[in-house]
Amino acid sequence: MRFSQLIPVLLPALMPLAAAEPAAHPTADLLAELIKIDTSNPPGRSAPLHELLASKFRPLGFEIAIIPTPDGGKTHFFARLKGDGTKRPVLLAAHSDVVGVEREKWTLDPFGGTIKDGYVYGRGAIDFKGGLAVFAESVLSLARNHVPLHRDVIFLSEADEEGATYNTNWLAQSHWDQMDCEFALNEGGWVIKGADEKVRYISISTADKSGLNLLVTAKGTSTHSSMPRPDSAIFILAKALAKLADYDTQPKLIPSTREFFLTLGKTSQPPQSDYFFNLVNSTDPQLVHEADVEISKDPLLHAIMRNTIAPVFLNAGFRGNVIPGSAQATINFRTIPGTDPRELITELSSVIDDPRVEVSQPPFNTAEGARAVENTRQAARLTPSRVDTDLYRALARNAQATWSAPVTQYLFQAGTDAGAWRSRGVPVYGIYPYPISGGDLTRMHGNDERVPIESLEQGTQVIYKTLLEVAAQ
Ligand SMILES: [Zn+2]
Repeated sequence: MRFSQLIPVLLPALMPLAAAEPAAHPTADLLAELIKIDTSNPPGRSAPLHELLASKFRPLGFEIAIIPTPDGGKTHFFARLKGDGTKRPVLLAAHSDVVGVEREKWTLDPFGGTIKDGYVYGRGAIDFKGGLAVFAESVLSLARNHVPLHRDVIFLSEADEEGATYNTNWLAQSHWDQMDCEFALNEGGWVIKGADEKVRYISISTADKSGLNLLVTAKGTSTHSSMPRPDSAIFILAKALAKLADYDTQPKLIPSTREFFLTLGKTSQPPQSDYFFNLVNSTDPQLVHEADVEISKDPLLHAIMRNTIAPVFLNAGFRGNVIPGSAQATINFRTIPGTDPRELITELSSVIDDPRVEVSQPPFNTAEGARAVENTRQAARLTPSRVDTDLYRALARNAQATWSAPVTQYLFQAGTDAGAWRSRGVPVYGIYPYPISGGDLTRMHGNDERVPIESLEQGTQVIYKTLLEVAAQ
């Protein structure tokens, strides 16, 4: 949908905002300010950005709490707009840290906050300072417009999402009272534009995939390299990895993924639409396989329908004249909710089918092993967020009305910090709340990251109206 078509839809909602906020593109302006504060992680220093946010929220009557972490420059920022307490709070969470840049590959200053040709450029424009700006501007507008609230509206700007140590899981251990809410918004699904610039679909994530590392260890005879034997651990490992390279796990569609693929089926043309419908509905294994092969040409779609297998480390050998007795690879899995690591170990072992190769979880007595065990435990507790809530319904309705495109649940292909809430049973809905093209999406975590100004302002309207429905009296 082009902007001119949107104006009749947006005008009634724009007017109260415009009355209180003279800036033409308040969210884009705020995003540019946020990008100028370099929060690359590492080191992920969020404290200066949170001082800036405090200066914007405090004068409008928000309760501010800046939570320090043991790492000096990292803080979490809460701004709470009080309601009358008849309903439990709604929370909007966004991470303030960003991944680093390869500066020489950018054509603009990644921390310049450049506004050019209808876009805001800079690291984090998509992930997730753009969302932080949309959420912040929506919540600030509630205060500027003196909207009476039934529930507290909590805005949270987080540290360490792109790192690990002092993220929301850390925060939840000591400050759960600040984060507790009936439901929450976070990063996650997408508002995807087609080649014609129209929004094709809106996905709202209700679950994330989890990460799990397994070790593949080959054993052989350790001996002098001048007299090689047939049982070289490195060759055995190489053969095992070659089998994994030729193998792929079966599709495993949870309800949100089924809904997602059916939505894609409705918004695409044959033969692609047939592949989507066959993947979900066909009982013919050959048709399902054919659909899987075709759909899997898109790495994202390949990933969200299965447990993915990615080798990430190799470890073998220590001298040029010694054949090592063992060789080890670390395989990173991104798993569908409900996957038991023991099933994966059994599956991999049978694919490799070599008694000299063992598949195992990292030992529990290392830091990595302990983290893996904790991750696995948390992943086992996570179930997709239910969608029969006022927040999901309001978000879906407003997104659908604004962008005239179908809305679907979605399994996010990676992890986010939503686990801190989902593991306690609090529903979290993920969205990057701005229409984005496939081309611009590849710039996320890449070079010349950018987001359209028009998309930011539309997204702010969607979130603002969602909050009005969910929290206003
Ligand atoms: Zn992110």
